[in-house]
Amino acid sequence: MSQTFIKTLREAPKDEIARNGALLTRAGYVHKEMAGVYDFLPMGLRVLEKIKSIIREELNKIGGQEVLLSTLQNPELWEKTGRFSNQQVDIWFKTELSSGGVVGLAPTHEEPITNLMKTYISSYKDLPLVAYQFQTKFRNEKRAKSGILRGREFLMKDMYSFHTSEDDLDRYYAEVEKAYERIFARLGLDDTYETFASGGIFSKYSHEYQTFLSVGEDTVYYNDDKSVVLNKEVYNDEVLGDLGVKREDLKETTAAEVGNIFKLKFKYSEPLGLEFSDEENHLKTVYMGCYGIGVSRVMGVIAEKYADEKGLVWPEQIAPYKYYLVAIGEAGAAKAEELYAGHEESVLYDDRAARPGEKFADFELMGIPYRVVVSDKTLAEDAVEVTDRKTGESKIVKLADFAID
Ligand code: ATP
Ligand code: MG
Repeated sequence: MSQTFIKTLREAPKDEIARNGALLTRAGYVHKEMAGVYDFLPMGLRVLEKIKSIIREELNKIGGQEVLLSTLQNPELWEKTGRFSNQQVDIWFKTELSSGGVVGLAPTHEEPITNLMKTYISSYKDLPLVAYQFQTKFRNEKRAKSGILRGREFLMKDMYSFHTSEDDLDRYYAEVEKAYERIFARLGLDDTYETFASGGIFSKYSHEYQTFLSVGEDTVYYNDDKSVVLNKEVYNDEVLGDLGVKREDLKETTAAEVGNIFKLKFKYSEPLGLEFSDEENHLKTVYMGCYGIGVSRVMGVIAEKYADEKGLVWPEQIAPYKYYLVAIGEAGAAKAEELYAGHEESVLYDDRAARPGEKFADFELMGIPYRVVVSDKTLAEDAVEVTDRKTGESKIVKLADFAID
């Protein structure tokens, strides 16, 4: 730590009213530039990368090919679907080219990926095809007061699938549902439920993934076993009838939308002219699906969900480091150096010239899963003291039994 700029702060910026934003700032994960705009510092970036790795692994398993599309957007493309107009999409950031003309900063990527695929899809033999990316989106959100839960610039994973038929789209959609279940379980967001939401004018429903959370911006209704969860925006008698649930069997709660999936069918492929020739050489329009996850929002939701009165508490699989190493005394420091060597990826070694109490408080604020203390006292027993951040419990572990992984 003495060679990094990892640093905790006594206070968060005054205008930071969201707990996730305040804790992440104080613990040294993010820096607030302005409302809804955050920098990710070394530890924050490590968490984001771990979240991305879990998502990437699961999407690669279902045939996703990773790409990275541009942020700057050609208005001509978006005019074909009517979505460059501020009346249709009210969250655009637009800017002018010095050579003349306007470009937009992508709030999402249906138009460019559909257009791009016209170069690579021409026959049924090219399908199905699935591409995804981790990409910074720009949205001129009216309210950006929820820390990294709602950014004006934020990291999204967006995936798009292309198919010859509705059956094939349905088949793949079901695969994504299973992959999303695995992703949210692995991220530690076990109370995330597939939720019925408005499908707009093209399909009756879309599915959101809602994590029950007191500071979530959405309101959802759910039955006892959570087999039916629906967003308040679609809550009416017709929908309840469709889903076979009664008002009196539903409870209300707040939730954060961490992802959503949508059967687009021809919504973008038709206006943009994405076609393929079938086995009889007839030209047909490509079926599409899209699948989002708010990667930076997920980080904020995990921060909110697990935090306690002392600070952050990261689930081990996404924590920036697994161990927070503290040495007390000269012999402790020598042993700590030995333990640290070769384990820079899993250990954050607090070698600063500071009091142990200060280091212990930083460990708690940062939410690293395990604190490891080496001191004269523990060395007298040939041991280290290991403290679990979540439970606060400490135990003495013999050095012979202590392996850093
Ligand atoms: P919301 O209703 O919260 O504004 P949305 O319906 O506009 O979300 P999508 O356009 O489907 O969201 O984006 C995909 C995912 O990106 C969302 O499910 C959410 O997790 C995340 N997301 C959307 N807007 C933001 C934002 N401003 N900041 C951070 N994450 C966001
Ligand atoms: Mg939105």
